[in-house]
Amino acid sequence: MPLKRAEKTPMPVRDPRERALDFGEVNRGYSAAHAVFEAERCLRCQEPICVDGCPVQIPIPDFIHAVATGDLPAAAKILRSANPLPAICGRVCPQESQCEAECSMTQHFDPVGIGHLERYVADWERTQPPALQSTPSRKEKIAVIGAGPSGLVCAGELARLGYPVTIYEALHAPGGVLRYGIPEFRLPKTVLNWEIGVLKAMGVTVVCNVVIGKTLTLDALFEKHGYSAVFIGTGAGLPQFLGIPGESLNGVMSANEFLTRINLMRGYEFPEADTPVRVGKRVAVIGAGNTAMDAVRTSLRMGAEEALVVYRRSEKEMSARVEEYHHALEEGVKFHWLTNPLEILGNAEGWATSLKCQQMKLGPKDASGRARPIPIEGSEFEIAVDNVVLAIGTTPNPLLTRTTSGLLTNPKGCLVADEHTGLTSKSLVFAGGDAVTGAATVILAAGAGKRAARAMHEALAARVH
Ligand code: FAD
Ligand code: SF4
Repeated sequence: MPLKRAEKTPMPVRDPRERALDFGEVNRGYSAAHAVFEAERCLRCQEPICVDGCPVQIPIPDFIHAVATGDLPAAAKILRSANPLPAICGRVCPQESQCEAECSMTQHFDPVGIGHLERYVADWERTQPPALQSTPSRKEKIAVIGAGPSGLVCAGELARLGYPVTIYEALHAPGGVLRYGIPEFRLPKTVLNWEIGVLKAMGVTVVCNVVIGKTLTLDALFEKHGYSAVFIGTGAGLPQFLGIPGESLNGVMSANEFLTRINLMRGYEFPEADTPVRVGKRVAVIGAGNTAMDAVRTSLRMGAEEALVVYRRSEKEMSARVEEYHHALEEGVKFHWLTNPLEILGNAEGWATSLKCQQMKLGPKDASGRARPIPIEGSEFEIAVDNVVLAIGTTPNPLLTRTTSGLLTNPKGCLVADEHTGLTSKSLVFAGGDAVTGAATVILAAGAGKRAARAMHEALAARVH
Protein backbone atom coordinates (compact mmCIF):
# COMPACT_ATOMS: atom_id res chain seq x y z
CA MET A 1 0.00 0.00 0.00
CA PRO A 2 1.54 3.42 -0.91
CA LEU A 3 2.25 5.62 2.12
CA LYS A 4 0.29 8.88 2.31
CA ARG A 5 1.67 12.11 3.72
CA ALA A 6 -1.55 12.74 5.64
CA GLU A 7 -1.08 9.51 7.56
CA LYS A 8 1.53 8.50 10.07
CA THR A 9 3.84 5.86 8.57
CA PRO A 10 2.56 2.67 10.22
CA MET A 11 4.85 0.67 12.50
CA PRO A 12 5.66 -2.67 10.85
CA VAL A 13 4.43 -5.48 13.14
CA ARG A 14 4.69 -9.27 13.23
CA ASP A 15 1.72 -11.40 12.15
CA PRO A 16 -0.64 -11.75 15.16
CA ARG A 17 -1.05 -15.54 14.66
CA GLU A 18 2.70 -16.04 14.82
CA ARG A 19 3.60 -13.50 17.52
CA ALA A 20 0.88 -14.58 20.00
CA LEU A 21 2.76 -17.87 20.39
CA ASP A 22 6.16 -16.52 21.43
CA PHE A 23 7.82 -13.72 23.40
CA GLY A 24 9.62 -12.11 20.41
CA GLU A 25 9.06 -8.37 19.97
CA VAL A 26 5.78 -7.47 18.24
CA ASN A 27 6.84 -4.16 16.66
CA ARG A 28 9.64 -4.46 14.11
CA GLY A 29 10.71 -0.81 13.96
CA TYR A 30 10.96 1.56 10.99
CA SER A 31 13.35 0.94 8.11
CA ALA A 32 15.66 3.82 7.08
CA ALA A 33 13.25 4.68 4.23
CA HIS A 34 10.25 4.74 6.61
CA ALA A 35 12.15 6.95 9.05
CA VAL A 36 13.24 9.56 6.48
CA PHE A 37 9.75 9.59 4.95
CA GLU A 38 8.12 10.09 8.34
CA ALA A 39 10.70 12.68 9.46
CA GLU A 40 9.96 14.71 6.31
CA ARG A 41 6.32 15.05 7.46
CA CYS A 42 7.48 17.29 10.36
CA LEU A 43 6.68 20.98 9.74
CA ARG A 44 9.58 22.23 11.95
CA CYS A 45 7.10 24.57 13.64
CA GLN A 46 8.48 27.88 14.90
CA GLU A 47 6.79 27.18 18.20
CA PRO A 48 7.04 23.40 18.50
CA ILE A 49 4.21 22.62 20.88
CA CYS A 50 5.08 18.93 20.70
CA VAL A 51 7.98 19.69 23.07
CA ASP A 52 5.52 21.01 25.70
CA GLY A 53 3.81 17.62 25.60
CA CYS A 54 7.05 15.80 26.43
CA PRO A 55 7.76 15.45 30.19
CA VAL A 56 11.55 15.43 29.53
CA GLN A 57 11.38 18.23 26.93
CA ILE A 58 13.16 16.49 24.04
CA PRO A 59 14.00 19.07 21.30
CA ILE A 60 11.69 17.09 18.99
CA PRO A 61 11.90 19.06 15.70
CA ASP A 62 15.72 19.18 15.96
CA PHE A 63 16.17 15.42 16.29
CA ILE A 64 13.53 14.78 13.60
CA HIS A 65 15.29 17.20 11.24
CA ALA A 66 18.55 15.31 11.81
CA VAL A 67 16.76 12.08 10.84
CA ALA A 68 15.34 13.73 7.71
CA THR A 69 18.84 14.82 6.65
CA GLY A 70 20.33 11.39 7.43
CA ASP A 71 22.50 12.70 10.30
CA LEU A 72 21.80 9.91 12.80
CA PRO A 73 24.77 10.67 15.11
CA ALA A 74 23.34 14.18 15.61
CA ALA A 75 19.82 12.83 16.09
CA ALA A 76 21.05 10.38 18.75
CA LYS A 77 23.04 13.10 20.54
CA ILE A 78 20.04 15.46 20.66
CA LEU A 79 17.74 12.71 21.95
CA ARG A 80 20.13 11.47 24.61
CA SER A 81 20.84 15.02 25.85
CA ALA A 82 17.22 15.16 27.04
CA ASN A 83 16.26 11.53 27.64
CA PRO A 84 18.69 8.90 28.96
CA LEU A 85 16.26 6.07 28.04
CA PRO A 86 15.28 6.73 24.37
CA ALA A 87 15.14 3.09 23.19
CA ILE A 88 12.75 2.37 26.06
CA CYS A 89 10.57 5.47 25.75
CA GLY A 90 10.40 5.02 21.96
CA ARG A 91 8.75 1.66 22.69
CA VAL A 92 6.50 2.17 25.71
CA CYS A 93 5.63 5.87 26.07
CA PRO A 94 2.02 6.86 25.48
CA GLN A 95 3.04 9.38 22.79
CA GLU A 96 -0.55 9.49 21.55
CA SER A 97 -1.55 11.37 24.71
CA GLN A 98 1.68 13.39 25.07
CA CYS A 99 3.94 14.88 22.35
CA GLU A 100 1.92 13.48 19.44
CA ALA A 101 -1.35 14.76 20.95
CA GLU A 102 0.10 18.29 20.77
CA CYS A 103 1.61 17.99 17.24
CA SER A 104 0.38 20.75 14.88
CA MET A 105 -0.21 18.17 12.15
CA THR A 106 -3.23 16.89 14.11
CA GLN A 107 -5.21 19.96 13.01
CA HIS A 108 -5.72 18.22 9.64
CA PHE A 109 -3.74 14.98 9.53
CA ASP A 110 -2.18 12.27 11.67
CA PRO A 111 0.54 13.53 14.02
CA VAL A 112 4.20 12.95 13.15
CA GLY A 113 5.27 9.51 14.44
CA ILE A 114 7.57 11.01 17.10
CA GLY A 115 7.72 7.85 19.20
CA HIS A 116 8.48 5.59 16.24
CA LEU A 117 11.27 7.98 15.16
CA GLU A 118 12.68 8.08 18.69
CA ARG A 119 12.83 4.28 18.68
CA TYR A 120 14.44 4.27 15.21
CA VAL A 121 17.26 6.62 16.28
CA ALA A 122 17.85 4.82 19.59
CA ASP A 123 17.97 1.44 17.82
CA TRP A 124 20.50 2.82 15.33
CA GLU A 125 22.57 4.05 18.29
CA ARG A 126 22.58 0.49 19.71
CA THR A 127 24.44 -0.67 16.60
CA GLN A 128 27.28 1.79 17.27
CA PRO A 129 30.37 1.22 19.46
CA PRO A 130 29.58 1.64 23.19
CA ALA A 131 30.15 5.03 24.82
CA LEU A 132 33.50 5.67 26.44
CA GLN A 133 33.74 5.15 30.20
CA SER A 134 33.65 8.42 32.14
CA THR A 135 34.66 9.04 35.76
CA PRO A 136 32.99 11.38 38.29
CA SER A 137 34.54 14.81 38.80
CA ARG A 138 32.79 15.80 42.07
CA LYS A 139 33.38 14.50 45.56
CA GLU A 140 29.83 14.46 47.05
CA LYS A 141 28.41 10.94 46.72
CA ILE A 142 24.70 10.50 45.96
CA ALA A 143 22.57 7.41 46.62
CA VAL A 144 19.50 6.48 44.54
CA ILE A 145 17.00 3.98 45.96
CA GLY A 146 15.32 1.89 43.27
CA ALA A 147 16.49 1.14 39.70
CA GLY A 148 13.22 1.86 37.86
CA PRO A 149 13.02 4.64 35.25
CA SER A 150 12.89 7.46 37.84
CA GLY A 151 16.01 6.18 39.63
CA LEU A 152 17.88 5.36 36.42
CA VAL A 153 17.22 8.78 34.87
CA CYS A 154 18.02 10.61 38.11
CA ALA A 155 21.31 8.67 38.37
CA GLY A 156 22.18 9.33 34.71
CA GLU A 157 21.55 13.06 35.07
CA LEU A 158 23.64 13.22 38.27
CA ALA A 159 26.47 11.31 36.58
CA ARG A 160 26.33 13.79 33.71
CA LEU A 161 26.73 16.56 36.30
CA GLY A 162 29.87 14.79 37.59
CA TYR A 163 28.58 13.10 40.80
CA PRO A 164 29.54 9.60 41.90
CA VAL A 165 26.14 7.86 42.06
CA THR A 166 25.20 4.46 43.48
CA ILE A 167 21.77 2.93 42.85
CA TYR A 168 20.53 0.45 45.47
CA GLU A 169 18.00 -1.99 44.03
CA ALA A 170 15.95 -4.50 46.04
CA LEU A 171 15.63 -7.07 43.23
CA HIS A 172 18.46 -9.09 41.71
CA ALA A 173 18.44 -7.05 38.48
CA PRO A 174 17.86 -3.33 37.69
CA GLY A 175 15.01 -1.87 35.64
CA GLY A 176 11.98 -1.83 37.98
CA VAL A 177 8.74 -2.33 36.07
CA LEU A 178 10.74 -2.19 32.82
CA ARG A 179 12.22 -5.56 33.81
CA TYR A 180 9.65 -7.30 35.98
CA GLY A 181 6.41 -5.87 34.54
CA ILE A 182 6.62 -4.96 30.85
CA PRO A 183 7.03 -8.20 28.86
CA GLU A 184 9.77 -9.11 26.42
CA PHE A 185 7.36 -8.86 23.45
CA ARG A 186 7.00 -5.10 24.09
CA LEU A 187 10.39 -4.27 25.57
CA PRO A 188 13.19 -6.80 24.96
CA LYS A 189 15.60 -7.17 27.89
CA THR A 190 18.53 -6.66 25.46
CA VAL A 191 17.24 -3.09 24.93
CA LEU A 192 16.88 -2.47 28.67
CA ASN A 193 20.32 -3.96 29.38
CA TRP A 194 21.88 -1.77 26.71
CA GLU A 195 20.37 1.43 28.14
CA ILE A 196 21.53 0.47 31.66
CA GLY A 197 24.98 -0.27 30.18
CA VAL A 198 25.16 3.31 28.86
CA LEU A 199 24.41 4.64 32.36
CA LYS A 200 27.08 2.40 33.87
CA ALA A 201 29.58 3.68 31.29
CA MET A 202 28.70 7.18 32.47
CA GLY A 203 29.93 6.17 35.93
CA VAL A 204 26.68 5.01 37.62
CA THR A 205 27.17 2.07 40.03
CA VAL A 206 24.26 -0.37 40.48
CA VAL A 207 24.12 -2.52 43.62
CA CYS A 208 21.35 -5.15 43.55
CA ASN A 209 19.77 -7.26 46.30
CA VAL A 210 19.76 -4.35 48.79
CA VAL A 211 16.41 -3.40 50.32
CA ILE A 212 16.68 0.06 51.82
CA GLY A 213 14.63 0.02 55.01
CA LYS A 214 15.64 -3.57 55.68
CA THR A 215 19.22 -4.40 54.59
CA LEU A 216 20.24 -0.78 55.29
CA THR A 217 18.26 2.19 56.59
CA LEU A 218 17.94 5.44 54.68
CA ASP A 219 19.57 7.32 57.58
CA ALA A 220 22.54 4.92 57.45
CA LEU A 221 23.16 6.01 53.85
CA PHE A 222 23.95 9.49 55.21
CA GLU A 223 25.45 8.61 58.57
CA LYS A 224 27.45 5.44 57.89
CA HIS A 225 28.02 5.48 54.13
CA GLY A 226 28.74 9.17 53.68
CA TYR A 227 26.17 10.05 51.00
CA SER A 228 25.41 13.77 50.71
CA ALA A 229 21.90 13.38 49.23
CA VAL A 230 19.42 10.58 48.47
CA PHE A 231 16.80 10.11 45.74
CA ILE A 232 13.90 7.73 46.40
CA GLY A 233 12.46 6.08 43.27
CA THR A 234 10.90 3.02 44.84
CA GLY A 235 7.80 2.95 42.62
CA ALA A 236 4.34 1.62 43.48
CA GLY A 237 4.81 -2.13 43.50
CA LEU A 238 2.22 -3.20 46.07
CA PRO A 239 -0.72 -4.84 44.26
CA GLN A 240 -4.32 -4.10 45.22
CA PHE A 241 -6.96 -6.80 45.56
CA LEU A 242 -10.71 -6.61 45.08
CA GLY A 243 -11.60 -8.00 48.50
CA ILE A 244 -14.10 -10.46 46.99
CA PRO A 245 -14.51 -14.10 48.14
CA GLY A 246 -12.19 -16.60 46.46
CA GLU A 247 -9.11 -14.39 45.99
CA SER A 248 -6.97 -16.87 47.95
CA LEU A 249 -7.84 -19.84 45.68
CA ASN A 250 -5.08 -21.54 43.69
CA GLY A 251 -4.80 -20.07 40.20
CA VAL A 252 -5.62 -16.55 41.40
CA MET A 253 -2.81 -14.00 41.55
CA SER A 254 -1.96 -10.37 41.16
CA ALA A 255 -0.68 -9.22 37.76
CA ASN A 256 2.52 -8.15 39.53
CA GLU A 257 3.20 -11.69 40.73
CA PHE A 258 2.14 -13.23 37.40
CA LEU A 259 4.33 -10.92 35.32
CA THR A 260 7.28 -10.98 37.74
CA ARG A 261 7.38 -14.78 37.73
CA ILE A 262 7.35 -14.79 33.94
CA ASN A 263 9.45 -11.73 33.05
CA LEU A 264 11.98 -11.35 35.86
CA MET A 265 12.21 -15.03 36.81
CA ARG A 266 11.89 -16.25 33.20
CA GLY A 267 8.86 -18.48 33.85
CA TYR A 268 8.39 -18.72 30.07
CA GLU A 269 11.63 -20.71 29.88
CA PHE A 270 10.49 -23.34 32.42
CA PRO A 271 11.92 -25.95 33.06
CA GLU A 272 15.28 -24.45 31.92
CA ALA A 273 14.48 -21.57 34.31
CA ASP A 274 13.27 -22.95 37.66
CA THR A 275 10.04 -20.88 37.87
CA PRO A 276 6.87 -22.88 37.32
CA VAL A 277 3.78 -20.79 36.41
CA ARG A 278 0.58 -22.79 36.00
CA VAL A 279 -1.46 -21.20 33.23
CA GLY A 280 -4.70 -23.08 32.43
CA LYS A 281 -6.88 -23.04 29.32
CA ARG A 282 -9.04 -20.07 30.36
CA VAL A 283 -7.49 -16.97 31.90
CA ALA A 284 -9.51 -13.95 33.02
CA VAL A 285 -7.64 -10.71 33.72
CA ILE A 286 -9.49 -8.11 35.80
CA GLY A 287 -8.81 -4.48 34.81
CA ALA A 288 -8.14 -2.63 31.56
CA GLY A 289 -4.89 -0.71 31.98
CA ASN A 290 -1.45 -1.43 30.47
CA THR A 291 -0.81 -4.01 33.18
CA ALA A 292 -4.00 -5.88 32.27
CA MET A 293 -3.07 -5.88 28.55
CA ASP A 294 0.42 -7.18 29.35
CA ALA A 295 -0.97 -9.90 31.62
CA VAL A 296 -3.65 -11.09 29.20
CA ARG A 297 -1.30 -11.13 26.18
CA THR A 298 1.30 -12.94 28.30
CA SER A 299 -1.28 -15.59 29.25
CA LEU A 300 -1.82 -16.33 25.53
CA ARG A 301 1.92 -16.79 25.07
CA MET A 302 1.99 -19.10 28.11
CA GLY A 303 -0.55 -21.40 26.40
CA ALA A 304 -4.02 -20.10 27.38
CA GLU A 305 -6.63 -21.04 24.77
CA GLU A 306 -9.05 -18.36 25.91
CA ALA A 307 -7.77 -15.06 27.27
CA LEU A 308 -10.33 -12.58 28.61
CA VAL A 309 -10.33 -9.07 29.99
CA VAL A 310 -13.07 -8.32 32.51
CA TYR A 311 -13.67 -4.63 33.17
CA ARG A 312 -16.48 -2.91 35.06
CA ARG A 313 -16.52 0.18 32.85
CA SER A 314 -16.63 0.42 29.03
CA GLU A 315 -13.99 0.50 26.29
CA LYS A 316 -14.11 4.32 26.43
CA GLU A 317 -12.89 4.46 30.05
CA MET A 318 -10.09 1.90 29.55
CA SER A 319 -6.67 3.37 30.49
CA ALA A 320 -4.47 1.02 28.39
CA ARG A 321 -2.53 2.45 25.46
CA VAL A 322 -4.53 2.23 22.22
CA GLU A 323 -1.70 0.33 20.52
CA GLU A 324 -1.68 -2.36 23.23
CA TYR A 325 -5.47 -2.70 23.05
CA HIS A 326 -5.38 -3.14 19.26
CA HIS A 327 -2.57 -5.66 19.50
CA ALA A 328 -4.53 -7.61 22.14
CA LEU A 329 -7.61 -7.65 19.88
CA GLU A 330 -5.54 -8.82 16.90
CA GLU A 331 -4.09 -11.62 19.02
CA GLY A 332 -7.56 -12.90 19.92
CA VAL A 333 -8.12 -11.49 23.43
CA LYS A 334 -11.86 -11.23 24.28
CA PHE A 335 -13.21 -8.24 26.21
CA HIS A 336 -16.09 -8.35 28.71
CA TRP A 337 -16.97 -4.68 29.15
CA LEU A 338 -19.33 -3.42 31.88
CA THR A 339 -18.69 -6.59 33.86
CA ASN A 340 -17.96 -6.53 37.58
CA PRO A 341 -16.47 -9.60 39.33
CA LEU A 342 -18.38 -10.56 42.51
CA GLU A 343 -16.77 -13.84 43.55
CA ILE A 344 -14.22 -16.42 42.41
CA LEU A 345 -15.60 -19.94 42.78
CA GLY A 346 -13.39 -23.01 43.23
CA ASN A 347 -13.41 -26.82 43.35
CA ALA A 348 -12.81 -29.19 46.29
CA GLU A 349 -9.04 -29.13 45.63
CA GLY A 350 -8.97 -25.36 46.12
CA TRP A 351 -8.45 -24.33 42.47
CA ALA A 352 -10.40 -21.51 40.82
CA THR A 353 -13.07 -22.78 38.40
CA SER A 354 -15.29 -19.79 37.59
CA LEU A 355 -15.76 -16.09 38.01
CA LYS A 356 -19.16 -14.88 39.17
CA CYS A 357 -19.88 -11.49 37.61
CA GLN A 358 -22.59 -8.87 37.39
CA GLN A 359 -23.49 -6.75 34.39
CA MET A 360 -23.07 -2.98 34.88
CA LYS A 361 -24.33 0.19 33.21
CA LEU A 362 -22.70 3.61 33.23
CA GLY A 363 -23.97 6.46 35.38
CA PRO A 364 -22.75 10.03 36.03
CA LYS A 365 -19.04 10.75 36.45
CA ASP A 366 -17.38 9.84 39.76
CA ALA A 367 -14.40 11.43 41.58
CA SER A 368 -11.98 10.00 38.97
CA GLY A 369 -13.82 11.94 36.24
CA ARG A 370 -14.96 8.71 34.56
CA ALA A 371 -18.51 7.41 34.25
CA ARG A 372 -19.49 5.51 37.40
CA PRO A 373 -20.39 1.83 36.84
CA ILE A 374 -23.79 0.93 38.35
CA PRO A 375 -24.86 -2.72 38.92
CA ILE A 376 -27.85 -4.06 36.96
CA GLU A 377 -30.05 -6.04 39.37
CA GLY A 378 -30.50 -9.74 38.56
CA SER A 379 -27.80 -9.76 35.86
CA GLU A 380 -25.35 -12.15 37.60
CA PHE A 381 -23.62 -14.75 35.43
CA GLU A 382 -20.57 -17.02 35.57
CA ILE A 383 -17.49 -17.25 33.35
CA ALA A 384 -15.54 -20.54 33.46
CA VAL A 385 -11.88 -19.87 34.33
CA ASP A 386 -8.70 -21.69 35.36
CA ASN A 387 -6.81 -18.55 36.33
CA VAL A 388 -7.81 -15.10 37.50
CA VAL A 389 -5.19 -12.34 37.31
CA LEU A 390 -5.92 -9.10 39.16
CA ALA A 391 -4.65 -5.97 37.43
CA ILE A 392 -6.65 -3.33 39.28
CA GLY A 393 -3.85 -1.05 40.42
CA THR A 394 -0.90 -0.79 42.78
CA THR A 395 0.21 1.48 45.61
CA PRO A 396 3.68 2.31 47.02
CA ASN A 397 5.22 -0.32 49.29
CA PRO A 398 5.24 1.15 52.86
CA LEU A 399 8.50 -0.56 53.92
CA LEU A 400 10.79 2.43 53.45
CA THR A 401 8.45 5.04 54.91
CA ARG A 402 7.72 2.85 57.97
CA THR A 403 11.42 2.48 58.73
CA THR A 404 12.44 6.12 58.11
CA SER A 405 11.53 8.89 60.54
CA GLY A 406 10.38 12.25 59.20
CA LEU A 407 9.33 11.04 55.74
CA LEU A 408 5.77 12.26 55.17
CA THR A 409 3.23 10.37 53.03
CA ASN A 410 -0.26 11.33 51.86
CA PRO A 411 -3.39 9.28 52.72
CA LYS A 412 -2.75 7.08 49.66
CA GLY A 413 0.69 6.11 50.99
CA CYS A 414 2.54 8.20 48.36
CA LEU A 415 5.57 10.22 49.43
CA VAL A 416 4.94 13.94 49.85
CA ALA A 417 7.43 15.75 47.60
CA ASP A 418 7.70 19.17 45.98
CA GLU A 419 6.21 19.09 42.46
CA HIS A 420 9.16 20.93 40.88
CA THR A 421 12.16 19.69 42.85
CA GLY A 422 11.05 16.37 44.36
CA LEU A 423 12.28 17.50 47.80
CA THR A 424 10.58 15.43 50.52
CA SER A 425 9.90 16.40 54.14
CA LYS A 426 13.44 15.25 54.99
CA SER A 427 16.48 17.41 54.33
CA LEU A 428 18.48 16.40 51.21
CA VAL A 429 16.10 13.51 50.51
CA PHE A 430 14.33 13.80 47.15
CA ALA A 431 11.76 11.52 45.52
CA GLY A 432 9.94 11.01 42.23
CA GLY A 433 8.08 8.58 39.99
CA ASP A 434 5.30 6.24 41.07
CA ALA A 435 6.39 6.45 44.74
CA VAL A 436 5.17 10.07 44.67
CA THR A 437 2.39 10.09 42.05
CA GLY A 438 1.04 6.55 42.46
CA ALA A 439 1.08 4.26 39.39
CA ALA A 440 1.69 6.47 36.33
CA THR A 441 4.00 6.26 33.30
CA VAL A 442 7.66 5.67 32.43
CA ILE A 443 8.21 9.15 31.03
CA LEU A 444 6.57 10.91 34.00
CA ALA A 445 8.87 8.91 36.29
CA ALA A 446 11.84 9.79 34.06
CA GLY A 447 10.88 13.50 34.08
CA ALA A 448 10.62 13.50 37.88
CA GLY A 449 14.06 11.82 38.16
CA LYS A 450 15.59 14.42 35.88
CA ARG A 451 14.08 17.40 37.73
CA ALA A 452 15.13 15.97 41.10
CA ALA A 453 18.72 15.47 39.88
CA ARG A 454 18.97 19.13 38.96
CA ALA A 455 17.41 20.19 42.27
CA MET A 456 19.88 17.96 44.16
CA HIS A 457 22.74 19.58 42.28
CA GLU A 458 21.46 23.06 43.21
CA ALA A 459 20.93 22.05 46.85
CA LEU A 460 24.46 20.65 47.13
CA ALA A 461 25.99 23.64 45.35
CA ALA A 462 24.14 26.01 47.73
CA ARG A 463 25.44 24.03 50.71
CA VAL A 464 29.06 24.13 49.58
CA HIS A 465 29.22 27.85 48.80
P1 FAD B 1 9.43 1.29 39.29
O1 FAD B 1 9.56 1.05 37.85
O2 FAD B 1 8.37 0.59 40.04
O3 FAD B 1 10.84 0.95 39.96
C1 FAD B 1 11.01 1.01 41.36
C2 FAD B 1 12.21 0.15 41.73
O4 FAD B 1 12.51 0.37 43.10
C3 FAD B 1 11.95 -1.34 41.57
O5 FAD B 1 13.01 -1.93 40.86
C4 FAD B 1 11.91 -1.85 43.01
O6 FAD B 1 12.36 -3.18 43.14
C5 FAD B 1 12.83 -0.87 43.71
N1 FAD B 1 12.57 -0.74 45.15
C6 FAD B 1 11.37 -0.61 45.76
N2 FAD B 1 11.55 -0.50 47.08
C7 FAD B 1 12.89 -0.54 47.30
C8 FAD B 1 13.68 -0.47 48.49
N3 FAD B 1 13.13 -0.30 49.69
N4 FAD B 1 15.03 -0.56 48.36
C9 FAD B 1 15.62 -0.72 47.14
N5 FAD B 1 14.89 -0.78 45.99
C10 FAD B 1 13.55 -0.69 46.08
N6 FAD B 1 4.16 3.06 31.60
C11 FAD B 1 4.30 3.54 30.35
O7 FAD B 1 4.66 4.70 30.18
N7 FAD B 1 4.05 2.77 29.25
C12 FAD B 1 3.70 1.47 29.36
O8 FAD B 1 3.49 0.80 28.36
C13 FAD B 1 3.59 0.91 30.67
N8 FAD B 1 3.27 -0.40 30.84
C14 FAD B 1 3.24 -0.92 32.09
C15 FAD B 1 3.02 -2.28 32.26
C16 FAD B 1 3.02 -2.84 33.53
C17 FAD B 1 2.82 -4.33 33.67
C18 FAD B 1 3.17 -2.01 34.68
C19 FAD B 1 3.13 -2.60 36.06
C20 FAD B 1 3.38 -0.65 34.53
C21 FAD B 1 3.44 -0.10 33.24
N9 FAD B 1 3.70 1.26 33.05
C22 FAD B 1 3.81 1.76 31.78
C23 FAD B 1 3.95 2.15 34.20
C24 FAD B 1 5.45 2.39 34.39
O9 FAD B 1 6.18 1.20 34.19
C25 FAD B 1 5.73 2.98 35.76
O10 FAD B 1 4.99 4.18 35.88
C26 FAD B 1 7.22 3.27 35.96
O11 FAD B 1 7.99 2.09 35.84
C27 FAD B 1 7.48 3.92 37.32
O12 FAD B 1 8.85 4.08 37.47
P2 FAD B 1 9.50 4.23 38.93
O13 FAD B 1 10.95 4.44 38.72
O14 FAD B 1 8.75 5.23 39.71
O15 FAD B 1 9.22 2.81 39.66
FE1 SF4 C 1 7.04 18.63 13.94
FE2 SF4 C 1 4.58 18.19 15.02
FE3 SF4 C 1 6.55 19.14 16.56
FE4 SF4 C 1 5.48 20.72 14.62
S1 SF4 C 1 4.43 19.96 16.47
S2 SF4 C 1 7.67 20.46 15.14
S3 SF4 C 1 5.02 19.16 13.07
S4 SF4 C 1 6.51 17.12 15.53
